[in-house]
Amino acid sequence: MSGHNSDAAQALAREFSQQGVRYALASYVDLHGICKAKAVPLSHLGPMLQGSELFTGAALDGVPQDVSDDEVAAVPDPASATVLPWHPELVWMASDLHLRGQPFEACSRNILNRVQREAAAMGLQFNLGVETEFFVLRRDEQGRAVPLSTRDTLDKPAYDVRSLLDNLPWLDELVSAMNQLGWGVYSFDHEDGPGQFEIDFDYADVVTMADRLTFFKLMAKEIAHKHGLIATFMPKPFADRTGSGAHFNMSLADLDTGRNLFETDDKAPGQVSEIAHHFMAGVLRHAAAICAVIAPTVNSYKRLVAQGSMSGFTWAPVFICYGNNNRTNMLRIPSAGGRVECRAADISCNPYLGAALMLAAGLQGIRERLDPGPANLVNAYTLTPQQRDERGIKNLPRTLGEAIDAFAADPLSRTVFGDAMFDAYVAYKTEEWEAYHSAVSDWEHKRYLEFF
Ligand code: GLU
Ligand code: MG
Repeated sequence: MSGHNSDAAQALAREFSQQGVRYALASYVDLHGICKAKAVPLSHLGPMLQGSELFTGAALDGVPQDVSDDEVAAVPDPASATVLPWHPELVWMASDLHLRGQPFEACSRNILNRVQREAAAMGLQFNLGVETEFFVLRRDEQGRAVPLSTRDTLDKPAYDVRSLLDNLPWLDELVSAMNQLGWGVYSFDHEDGPGQFEIDFDYADVVTMADRLTFFKLMAKEIAHKHGLIATFMPKPFADRTGSGAHFNMSLADLDTGRNLFETDDKAPGQVSEIAHHFMAGVLRHAAAICAVIAPTVNSYKRLVAQGSMSGFTWAPVFICYGNNNRTNMLRIPSAGGRVECRAADISCNPYLGAALMLAAGLQGIRERLDPGPANLVNAYTLTPQQRDERGIKNLPRTLGEAIDAFAADPLSRTVFGDAMFDAYVAYKTEEWEAYHSAVSDWEHKRYLEFF
C-alpha cells in the first residue's frame, strides 16, 4: 500500500462501511496476551494501516519500554480484520509493532512471526488448534463466584446436559459469533468443573490461531458480561476441581503442498511420522522452559497436579513424557494420529509467546534429528519414582519459580524472545513468583497459627 489513501485502503474502508463499521481497532497484546487497542474512525483507516497509531509500550504490563522511549507504532494486519459480532460498528485488527520504522523486537506477534519465518525457511507451516477451556460464573449475594446454573453441583459434571442447557443463552451467542466469523466450531460442552465449558473450532496456521485466541478471550468475556456473567481464563479457580487447559494440537504441513507432515502411512491408531517424533523430542528437551510460557502464572501450577479434582482426575500432565492417546502424558498422540497435543498449556497463556517457544523447540528437534525415546503407554500418574528414574521421565516444574528458573537457564528462551523481552519476562515472572511466595495465606493460618 503506498499512500494513506491508497486505493486498497479506500476499497477496504468502503467494504467495512457497507457492513456498518464506523471504527477500527489497531490491536496488540501486553505480556499476558491481553489485547489492547486504540480506536480510529473509519475515515482514518488509510493512515492507520500505514502505522499512524503510536502507543507508549511502557503503558502496557510487561512490555519492555521505558517512559522516555520513542512510541511504538501498531501496523495492523488487514488479513486479521474481524468485525466484532456483538458490536458490528467496530472492526478489530491484530497489529505488528514497529519502532522507528523497524519491527519492534519485543512485540509478541513479531516474536511468533520470527519463528514462523524460520519454519517457512525449512519449507514448513506450523498449524495449531487450541481447545479453549474456561469458567463462566456469576456473583452470588455474598459476592462469591459461582456457576450460573443452580443445578451445576455434580461431583462429575463433565458433559452435563442440564447445566449446559441452563447456560445456553450466552453459549449460543458465543458459538454463533465464532461461526459467523468462519472459525468452524465443531463441538462445545460442559467440562469437568462446575461452570466450566470448552469450545473447539478448526485449526489454522499458527499466527491466525494466536490472533483468534486473543480475540476469543475478548469476545467470550464481553458476551458473558452482556449476560451479567464473568468468563475467566484463570487456570485453576477452584482447588478441588479441574483447571482450564488450552491444549495445543500441533502439526507441521509442507508449505507448498499443504500436506500434513505429521501423518504417516501407518494407519494404526495414534501414529505420527518421524518428523513428528523429532518435533516432540525438541519440545520435551525444552519442556521446563516452555512451561514458564504456556503455564505462565502462579495459579497455573495448581492445575498441573495429579490430585485435586472431586471428579477423581485432573486430566492435567505432571511429567515430561509423550505417548499414546493417554491424557496423563504431557504430549499425547490422539488415536486419529497426524497431530501431537501438548496438554501442559493452560488458557491464561499468551498464545504468541507460547507457540513461538514451542515451535522453536520443535524445529530444533527436527534439525538435530532428536529422538524422544520410548513412548509412555501407561497411566503416568501411577509411575513410581523408581520407574520414572529408569525411564528418564522428569517432573514438569511444580511452581512458577521452578519454571522461570528453567526458562532463564535455557538459551533457547533468549534466542526466541530477543534480549529485551527475555529480560522483561524473567524479571516480571520472578517478581510475580516472589510476591506470591512472600504472602501468608489462610491455609498457613489454619494449619500453623494455633498448632505451633
Ligand atoms: N481440564 C483438563 C486440563 O486442565 C483437561 C480435560 C480434557 O482432557 O479435556 O488440562
Ligand atoms: Mg477438555
